[in-house]
Amino acid sequence: MSTIFSKIIDGDIPGHIVYDDAETVAFLDAKPINPGHTLVVPRGEYENIFEIPEDTFLAVMKTVHKLSPIIKEAVGADGINIGNNNGSAAGQEVFHYHVHIMPRFQGDGYDHWSGDENYHDEEHAENISKKIKTLLSD
Ligand code: AMP
Repeated sequence: MSTIFSKIIDGDIPGHIVYDDAETVAFLDAKPINPGHTLVVPRGEYENIFEIPEDTFLAVMKTVHKLSPIIKEAVGADGINIGNNNGSAAGQEVFHYHVHIMPRFQGDGYDHWSGDENYHDEEHAENISKKIKTLLSD
């Protein structure tokens, strides 16, 4: 069964496609955080960052890079957030890899995540960086 994003790509359900090329398609989000909120997806169905091959990921990012300044200009935004949720614990709702291009406006009311400095005490930071470097060298 194809994903809801494949259905948009295939024209089986409506969508406002703003760009497409051989590997990627971009369309407006149905529930935008601000006007111009756009999703960039690969034509291939990969669930998330853990599945998408590197070359397809890079193709998606190339489209994100191309569209971000255009979208910023189109809606007169002051800034852009680039977002990508991987896994339901991270807020992923549609399991077809996608990157959000989210226009931001001064005072639009969205907060930055607050962070917790406790996770960056010497012991935590040392343990985590060691673990990452070990896994990278395996
Ligand atoms: P995520 O939480 O990263 O998986 O985000 C999924 C996004 O897909 C949400 O921002 C939804 O508003 C958006 N979305 C879901 N269905 C559609 C649709 N049919 N057309 C456009 N955007 C959609």
